[in-house]
Amino acid sequence: MSTFQLDSHYGRFGGCYAPETLMPALIELEAAFVEARAEPEFRERLRRLLRDFGGRPTPLFHAERLGAEWGLDLWLKREDLLHTGAHKLNNALGQALLAQRMGKTRILAETGAGQHGVACATVCALLGLDCVVYMGEMDAQRQVPNVERMELLGARVVIVRAGQRTLKDAINEALRAWVGDPDAHYLLGSALGPHPFPTIVAFFHEPIGKEAAAQYREQAQTDQPDLVLACVGGGSNAIGLFRGFMDNPEVALVGVEAGGTGSAPGEHAARWAGGREGVLHGCKTLVLCDDDGQILATHSVSAGLDYPAVGPEHAQLAEQGRARYLSASDDEALAGFAALARFEGILPALESSHALGWLLARREDWRGMSVLLGLSGRGDKDLATVLPLLGGTR
Ligand SMILES: *Cc1c(COP(=O)(O)O)cnc(C)c1O
Repeated sequence: MSTFQLDSHYGRFGGCYAPETLMPALIELEAAFVEARAEPEFRERLRRLLRDFGGRPTPLFHAERLGAEWGLDLWLKREDLLHTGAHKLNNALGQALLAQRMGKTRILAETGAGQHGVACATVCALLGLDCVVYMGEMDAQRQVPNVERMELLGARVVIVRAGQRTLKDAINEALRAWVGDPDAHYLLGSALGPHPFPTIVAFFHEPIGKEAAAQYREQAQTDQPDLVLACVGGGSNAIGLFRGFMDNPEVALVGVEAGGTGSAPGEHAARWAGGREGVLHGCKTLVLCDDDGQILATHSVSAGLDYPAVGPEHAQLAEQGRARYLSASDDEALAGFAALARFEGILPALESSHALGWLLARREDWRGMSVLLGLSGRGDKDLATVLPLLGGTR
């Protein structure tokens, strides 16, 4: 097999802008994915592990008190209740099973805040695979508990001291390591990167949207919500949720990115507000970069949304007008966090809090309507960030 079998593009976006040395591994991966996806035994093994180990299906929760407060009908898809506390396990488990099926013995992964690294370390322990996680030095210093978690789960954490010493540099380093290691699978953590990763990652997150659509029909006793929204870092939890509603034009889709502290370069990670078409990590998409194509620094109160590019399928959905992408500021996200904690007894991840904060700020526009919001993760990991910022309201 010397070429790809699937379309690597999402309209003008996506593709595979990878060095030649990486191509054999990407082609091998795509072939294995196409085979596994069609194989009932593979799908059944994944389904069972997602159920018995992960806790799928995750509930759809009718948030009646917060909905009443905001004047709308609010439903939460509870990925915060998935094992390890976020949607990331769907993809980590799917790709790790794929790697095992390919005869790989080692998983290489990048991590920013550490959530994806923890999910990878978890599934590697489950399946008996070696796990090496690349993490920028800055991130490792900010996220000590997650480094400790990964090590307790048996992973080796490699500290990356190149570049800005954050997620972008960790991805570069993991990709580099993959080239020289035929026994390894690189387990990319969001719906981005060179083909076939955006396709594979979105596929493994599809249960989020499929479950949510069926649960909504049953519990709300109507066909569809008016609005489906989710936070967008690289875009994996959002694409998983959107896939359940994409074909239904009556459902508005909104992705919420990190508005940070302001609109100047370096103050946010809002690719639709300040980005342009470019190539980062092997795929053509919307990128925050300067006139010379140099990647700009980003900021968000939530580490999971703090990335200068976005998955190519979202770039296409925006261009087609099928989905809209807007941002919530750090402060709006914190207000969303506080509201869910007080009205529903759920501490959301700061990433998910951006979707909540956006809805809180625009609730008048959606008054009386039905809103299904993807709660991508739980907030325990964010307490050290949230407490000093919300302390004044205690
Ligand atoms: C990593 C993460 C995100 C952002 O990643 P996506 O690929 O955009 O989903 C969002 N929420 C949580 C809880 C995360 O851990």
